[in-house]
Parts: sequence; structure tokens; C-alpha cells
Amino acid sequence: MAITETRTTCPYCGVGCGVLMQVDTDGSVAVKGDPAHPANHGRLCSKGAALADTLDQGGRLLYPEVHGKRCDWDTALATVAEGFQRIIRQHGPDAVALYVSGQLLTEDYYVANKFMKGYIGSANIDTNSRLCMASAVSGYKRAFGSDSVPCSYQDLEQARLIVLVGSNTAWCHPVLYQRMAQARKDHTDMRVVVIDPRRTATCDIADVHLALRSGSDATLFNGLLVYLEQNGHGHSQFVTHCTEGLDAALATARVSAPSIQVVAERCGLEATAVAEFYSLFARNERVVTVFSQGINQSSSGTDKVNSIINCHLFTGRIGRPGMGPFSFTGQPNAMGGREVGGLANQLAAHMDIENGAHRALLQAYWQSPAMASKPGLKAVDLFKAVHDKRIKALWIMGTNPAVSLPAVDRARAALDNCELVVVSDCVRHTDTTARAHVLLPAAAWGEKDGTVTNSERRISRQRTFLPPPGEAQPDWWIVSQVARRMGYEHGFNYASAADIFREYALLTGTANNNNRALDISALGMLDATAYDTLQPIQWPVTSDHPQGTPRLFGDGRFYTPSGKARFISITPIPPVHATDAAYPLILNTGRLRDQWHSMTRTSKAARLSAHQPEPFVDVHPADAAAAGIDDGSLARVASRWGEITVRAHVSTQQRRAEVFVPIHWSDQFASNARVGAVVNPVVDPVSGQPEFKHTPVRIAAYHPQWYGFLLSRRRLVVPDAAYWVAARGDKFWRYEIAGEQSPDDWATHARSLLCNKDSQVGWIEYFDKGRHQYRGARLVANRLESCIFIGPDHVLPPRDWLAGLFAHPTLTADQRTSLLTGAPGKGRSDSGRSVCACFSVGINTLLHAIRRDRLTTPEAIGTALKAGTNCGSCIPEIKALIAQVKETTA
Ligand code: SF4
Repeated sequence: MAITETRTTCPYCGVGCGVLMQVDTDGSVAVKGDPAHPANHGRLCSKGAALADTLDQGGRLLYPEVHGKRCDWDTALATVAEGFQRIIRQHGPDAVALYVSGQLLTEDYYVANKFMKGYIGSANIDTNSRLCMASAVSGYKRAFGSDSVPCSYQDLEQARLIVLVGSNTAWCHPVLYQRMAQARKDHTDMRVVVIDPRRTATCDIADVHLALRSGSDATLFNGLLVYLEQNGHGHSQFVTHCTEGLDAALATARVSAPSIQVVAERCGLEATAVAEFYSLFARNERVVTVFSQGINQSSSGTDKVNSIINCHLFTGRIGRPGMGPFSFTGQPNAMGGREVGGLANQLAAHMDIENGAHRALLQAYWQSPAMASKPGLKAVDLFKAVHDKRIKALWIMGTNPAVSLPAVDRARAALDNCELVVVSDCVRHTDTTARAHVLLPAAAWGEKDGTVTNSERRISRQRTFLPPPGEAQPDWWIVSQVARRMGYEHGFNYASAADIFREYALLTGTANNNNRALDISALGMLDATAYDTLQPIQWPVTSDHPQGTPRLFGDGRFYTPSGKARFISITPIPPVHATDAAYPLILNTGRLRDQWHSMTRTSKAARLSAHQPEPFVDVHPADAAAAGIDDGSLARVASRWGEITVRAHVSTQQRRAEVFVPIHWSDQFASNARVGAVVNPVVDPVSGQPEFKHTPVRIAAYHPQWYGFLLSRRRLVVPDAAYWVAARGDKFWRYEIAGEQSPDDWATHARSLLCNKDSQVGWIEYFDKGRHQYRGARLVANRLESCIFIGPDHVLPPRDWLAGLFAHPTLTADQRTSLLTGAPGKGRSDSGRSVCACFSVGINTLLHAIRRDRLTTPEAIGTALKAGTNCGSCIPEIKALIAQVKETTA
């Protein structure tokens, strides 16, 4: 029977990979990388490769709800419209707000902005992209007069030096990392410099790793500017004709970074390493500097961005093949949101809210009754205004701010006390939907239709290949319906996403006259078929450039009033909150290889959860020892804003006095691991982006009375334990638990955790009272249903071997015995934590094969075990294991 194949775009990161989704007649879905998509040429990372595992309807929000009760769409939409109207009537338009998401499609974003800025007349609409790349936007605008990324992905292959600053590309933009790794192999003269306080997987391709002191990036790049000038590496013609402000920028840079020696001291680096980086930058004409959240998420993120751009302007390395300052965006449509005014300080089509002519143009184009006249509140300030009750109605679309904001407990309290909280989402139970008065079911990826723009300005289609379940609707439809009920019928008469796209595309060309880089007016007349078949294309797309534009600024003309790019004088400033005796460590946060945001989608794929099933803190051995923390034990990470409890990973990859915690865990998956609760609510004064990379914290050992874990075929209600973490496995759920009080009767307590009332039969168990060890397992018809292991410390039996028993329809006598001894039976071993998500190859299996068969390359391991041969995301980790074995056997 026929399989239908749909070309669409991955919904995760800003790389924007093309995927082919194949739906069989039985409803099963398979995913492949799209070989024709220019972003990935058929490659996918572990997350993209697991997309088909995440499409089940479990946990979906299927119907509208008001105050927790299911209702029809009419009732829900009227509740929102009337609630917004009443509050606007009583308190003015700035008393309501929208908080949207880089997960929305451009068409959704466009309609939400039009509704808020053009009809309600307030700019109180901001987006979670504020948390991810707002500093890049501000930096580009300051330098170029336009929020325009100059580069293309192909520049990564054409460069001879790639500088990766504050970017764990191997985990956060894995397909671009693969492209760079391949280019590094193909061109022996190519060099890679990684600038990051942590030794991340990205360092696997680095010729130089500068593990600089957290926050010192601007000093390093000021030093580079000074070095380039002192050694005659400036492009005088470009600087003279195409830039302004060099003298002031150089004079300021000399103050903070007069010499390599001073830079090295201030950045906590060896002078020779700094000199090597500077020399590489000077020698290589084709240099791309990639920056991401490590630069952006800072109280001086915009300055850091400009310190990088300054060096490219000075050398004229912009707008030509293989060079440029290149911001990698985090989300699939962070860039699309920027295009249509998704940030509170922008208007649609890259127009400026402070510009009266732009406001008038937009209002005339929309024929709207109002127009926001001043910037709205940026994310952190917006939630502060909710907290202070200046904002009384908040509509959140497709994001989970109750997990992701800094000082998030304050944001949660704000939502708890807000008069009207509306949430549009495709997931029923999140930390944010728990605080909503009105829930609106949104169509999810695969069910909706529209466009997204990736980090290289490439617009790609997201296409529908599944019907929306229940009563879910596209976000643009939901916003339009509310707008119409508020009396704005004529502005929101859209019949399709294509209608919206055409309106937006034509707007970009309206009164543009080559004054705004964003111009896709050549796409403004696409009919339904042409929109449906639109091929990935980079803006601008105009009548002069109908095939799109790979690079910007090649003509040396910028979008400032003078037409020249601006050097910005940068005085590095320390983070707002310094460490002190009470909080002596710096907390850094970030993403993991196999998870996405608050895990609402990736947690559905067992193979993605297997890589890191528990939240953790990476801590240097010396800091761990000082706090009495063992590897694998539990630790508390506390700041002035909050505290979390997570597993300790003791690691030499971490700088001393700095710790790292991933961002992904919410209250849905762990008892107390929302790192946002700990992060300081400090923002960059220009961009408003929060400082997620620098919060003073302390860590302490957490010693519960008992530790344990549960594996169960059924999902359980959250265990009654002081510490718990839930993760989906293949045919089972895994719960890590720990408690502060031992029950009198372990057998009864274990059964109460695992069973419902009528399933008390089939138990085998072992209890060593003296050693405080309990092991129990429940079998039905000799099939393992669940098992529980409790002990007095964190050293417990390996989980992965036990997890494998759930794949057996019945257990052998040997396997039953091993359940009680807590060790694999004779001749069996534990595969260990998953390293290769695609083929479920564990760390112990890899180490064993490397040792036994003397495997010395990822290729040899791929041949032997298949690990690393699909998406390649695990190759840096495989290489690290090879190096580890080599070191221990040398
Ligand atoms: Fe998706 Fe991975 Fe590509 Fe990002 S790199 S778009 S997560 S497949």
C-alpha cells in the first residue's frame, strides 16, 4: 500500500533541517533527513532522528477548558475575548500581554503581533526567544543598523578558521557541528578554536580550546581588536569606506586589553594560548566566528556580540564567502519571530517601533484602529509587571515560562495571582498549564502548516502530515477567532496560512526602497500551490534576487543612517552579581544533546531519555571534595533566588569554582530540578536577555536516609519521596527516588509505590534489615511488571541491565534470581548508560569493545557496534571513551 511522504522542517533547533515524514496506511510514521534540504543535506541529529517516537497523542490537550472544565470553542474564545476587553476597558491596553514562542510558525507570530500591536494598541508581546538570542539582535542592529545575519551555512565549509564562542555546537546545533567536522576532515588547513569555560563535546574538533573565565569574552575580543591593529591586519579600504567609529572603539579596547599578557590574566588563560588564537585569526582571511547562548545570555551580551563584530569589521571579513560573525539561533523559528516583530521592541517586517513613519506605514497597511507607540515589556520585566499586577491578563502561546524564566518561582507566583491566564498549548499538563484559567488546544508539529526561518535566514515550509487530534486548531486561527470576537473582523479574515504569508511578504516590500534588509516581496503573490511547494530560500527574496540571497553586506553598504557599519566601543563589565563567601561558585546552564526545552516532546522518546535520564550538576573534583560530594550522590545547588536537588557529576571538564546544570527538567519530571529557580533575574540593559550563564551559587551534599529506584511497566503516580525523577524507558518507566524517613515496613511501602490495590500478587523480594537493603520485583505470568531497589547510599545495582529485562516476555530462573541478588546473572553484563541513542549502545558495551578488540577510531566502533553510524551526535563521546581507554592502558 502507498506510503505518503511529506517534506517538512524539524521542529527543534535553529539549524532548521529538512525532514521527510513517511506515513504508512496503518498510521505508523517514519522519519528521514531530507537530502534536498540545503541546511542538512539528509543529515539528522539524535533528536531529529527520534521525531517519529514523539508523535503519539498521549498527554495532548485535546479540548478547550475554562477553569479546569471542558467546554466548546465558542465558550473558551468568548471567555478570552471578554476577559481581555474588560481589562482593557478598565485599565488600558498595557494591562494585557502576550508571551509567545520561537516554536510558533511565522504566520502564527505575524497574526499575534498584528493583534497586539495594531489592534489592542500595546507592544506588550514578547517571546521566549528573548531568553535565547535577543543580544544577537541588539548587537547586529547596533553594528549594521539591521537585525541581519550576514552568513550562510556554506560559509562554515568555506572558512579556514572557525571560532566557536559560547556555543556547544556538538549538542545544541548538531547537524552544523557535523558539517564543520566533515569540513575539518576534508580540509587539512582548516582550524577550529573553541572558546568556552567548559570542555564540551564541541572541543572534539578544536585545535585550540580557550577555557576562559566565565564572562570575560569581551576582554578577549577587545584584545583581539588591539592585536589586529598593532600588527597591521586591518582592511584599511573597507574600514575607511564602509565603517565608522573605529578610533573610539580601539581607544576603549586598549584600556581593558592593552596586551596579550593582560588579556590572559583577565580571562584566566595562558598567554601562549591567547597568542595562538590571535595569530590564527590574523593569518586566516576566511574566518567565521560563531556565537550562541554563551555570548547572548549575559548581562553584557550585546557588548560581547559587538566585541566580536568589531574584529570582523576591522578586517573587512564580512559579506564574502567563508567569513562573518554568525549567530546560531536556538529555536526553530526564533528568526521568523524576529522578522514579524515578535520581540516587544520591534515592529513587523524589521520596522522600528520608535520610528513614527514606520508606525504610520504599518497602521495604514493593516488599516488597524490603533498602533503601539512605545516598546512593550521584555520577558523578565513583563512577568515582573504581572507580579506587580500592572498586567492583569496574560496569554501564553506554546511555551513554558513557569519552567524557563530566571528566578522562576517569582514568575510562578505572578501567574498564580494573575487575574486571567490563558494558555494555548498542545500539551495538557505542564508547569504553566497548571496555572491557567483558560486552556486552548493548539495543533502540534506535523498538524500545522506554515513557514519557519533558520539561523542562515532560510525560510522553509512546515507542512501538515497528520490530522490534529480532538479539537486542536492552529495558533493563527485561535488568535484570529479571539480578535474577531473583540470586534476586529476585518483584520483577521484569514482562510489559510498562505493568506497570512502573502500579507506578510508584501508588507516587507512596502515602502522599503532598499532601506530594510528583510524584503521577501517576490513571494507576496504565491498562490496556494506555489506556497505549498515553496522551496527553502534565504531572504532577501526580491525581483532582483528571486532565488534568494546567501550573504549580506557584500557591497559594503549597511542599514545605518550613514550606510556605514558601526564599530561599538566596548568596556567589559563584570556580571551584576559577583561570587562571595556565601555563594562562591558560578552557575552556568545549558542544553543537553538529546533533550529539548522542558521535555514536553523529547521525553516521549525512550532513546532520548536514555542518554541523561536524571538532572545533574557538573562539578570540578576539587569543588566536589570541598563540599563532601561524591560522584553519583545527590547535591543541592542554591542561590539567593532558589534551590534545586540534583545528581552530582564530578568532572574535570568543568572549570574550578564553576558548575553546570541543564535547563530541561520541570515539575512534571522531577521533584525539584528547575534550574530557573536558581538563576538570577539579571538582564542585559540593551537586549533584555537574562543572564543564564552566571549566577553565584553554593553546592552542598544532600544525604537522604535512603536511596532507590523503581522500574515499572506502567506510569506511576509520583512516588511519595523527598527526591524523585521520572523518565520513560523502552517498555517501562524509570523513577529515581530518595527519602528522608525509612518506613517501618519496606515490603508494604514498596508495594504501595508500585501497585494499585488489586495487584498485590506475584511478588518476590529480599530484605536485609541490617544493611538497610530492600529489593522487590513483581511478576505476572513470569513477566516482569515492576521492580524496586532501596539502599542506604547511592551505590545501587545498574539500571540498564534491569531495564533490559522488560523486553523479555518471560524471565528465566536465572533472571529471577538475579533480580534479588541485584546483579546480572553469569555471562551477562550491564550495557550502561546509553551513548548512541540511535542504536541504543551503552557506555559499558563501548568500553568493553574498545578494550577487548583494541578499537581506536569511531569508524572501527561503527563497524563493530553500529554506534555513531546514523546521526553521528555521539561521535564526540565515543572519541572521548577511546581516549579514556588509551590513557588508562598507556
Ligand atoms: Fe532538528 Fe537536530 Fe537538525 Fe536541530 S540539528 S534542526 S534538532 S535534526
